[in-house]
Amino acid sequence: METTSLNRRDWLKRSALTIGGLSILPLIGQAETPLAPLTLDNKGRLTYSPLFREFTLSKPLTTAIKAKLNANENPYGPSPKAIEALKSSAHLGNRYAWKEMFDLIEKISNLEGATPENIIMGPGSSDILEKVAMVFFKDGGNVVSADPSYMSLIQVAKATGGSWKPIPLTKDWEHDLKAMEAAIDNETKLVYICNPNNPTGTITNSDALRDFCSRVSERVPVFVDEAYLGFLENGMKHSMVPLVKEGKNVIVARTFSKIHGMAGLRVGYAVAQPETLERIHSITRGGMGISYPSIHAAMASLEDSEFLDKCRSLNSEVRDYVYTSLKGMGHNAVPSHTSFMIFPIEMEGETFLKEMTALGVGVRAFQFMDKNWCRVSMGTMDEMKLFTAAVNKVLV
Ligand code: PLP
Repeated sequence: METTSLNRRDWLKRSALTIGGLSILPLIGQAETPLAPLTLDNKGRLTYSPLFREFTLSKPLTTAIKAKLNANENPYGPSPKAIEALKSSAHLGNRYAWKEMFDLIEKISNLEGATPENIIMGPGSSDILEKVAMVFFKDGGNVVSADPSYMSLIQVAKATGGSWKPIPLTKDWEHDLKAMEAAIDNETKLVYICNPNNPTGTITNSDALRDFCSRVSERVPVFVDEAYLGFLENGMKHSMVPLVKEGKNVIVARTFSKIHGMAGLRVGYAVAQPETLERIHSITRGGMGISYPSIHAAMASLEDSEFLDKCRSLNSEVRDYVYTSLKGMGHNAVPSHTSFMIFPIEMEGETFLKEMTALGVGVRAFQFMDKNWCRVSMGTMDEMKLFTAAVNKVLV
């Protein structure tokens, strides 16, 4: 397979999008995937594994984007209480927020039923995914994870000196836990599980996953990325955090970017064993990358359960509409448990992206499981109507 390395400038050019006439960088890439070590195949597709590629636009289009449905952002956020907290704490931006950070950690640890020593904060969970990858793979080793899955930790592990053992999802779109366990060898430093999984939007049975994490973490740490758990009814029931409390070597990452609608405010955290967090703290500063106002906004958002419930129910209403509309047009989407959805497209991926973008709709396009797929984030109902109208025109 022929691949070429992509330099940063070329990558940014490929990923540019235009909103309201202004070019914004990047449409894809930085939000979800670190830039190194990305490679392109000879058709210009980003190559994550032999089975998993992503289509990109070779030239940025200048069309104004009316529905930005490419980064799984929450169209309803931040919560009104979080906005109020941002405004009322902006004037404190001249101070370091040490005490406030501790208050937030305490609040989160109470919520999770853990202790403050179990919590690490970061400006978004990406920061924690990347730090874990750098710390765990600085001396090489391999990471076992699903293919396709979320690539942030994997890409940094590879760039740091580790290698990836990709294990295809089952045909029911679950993690193949048996195969993943069998793939662990003496060089395995970490298992990464994204549940619900991105980019498929699907979920792995939580009892089976709990059993897997409990057993496997005796041999090697298991990292569970629960970025989209908040969109599930009774999400906490599916969480792997209780295993941390049982003393298991499990790291659970959460973010305020999705159900809390705070992607641009950058707050995330992980729950793990204090010894694991010590490995990260020994060479980094932990959570000091979060601004004073963002800390206040996160605290307010945690208390706004009415807002969180509203986001969950609007997301599910819009998701039902998209699923049914796609079905009506003959596209069988994969049932989603998240704020995004995939469906197969019988079209070359870059052409699809180009045509959707020209109609003002930004989405993602991938190739895996021998098919091309569109991944669309759930926006507002109005945005999704633009999306379904665009699909109707593009995929005739
Ligand atoms: N994990 C998953 C599965 C994601 O999809 C994302 C973002 O899209 C992240 C982590 C990182 O999010 P953030 O850095 O905004 O917390």
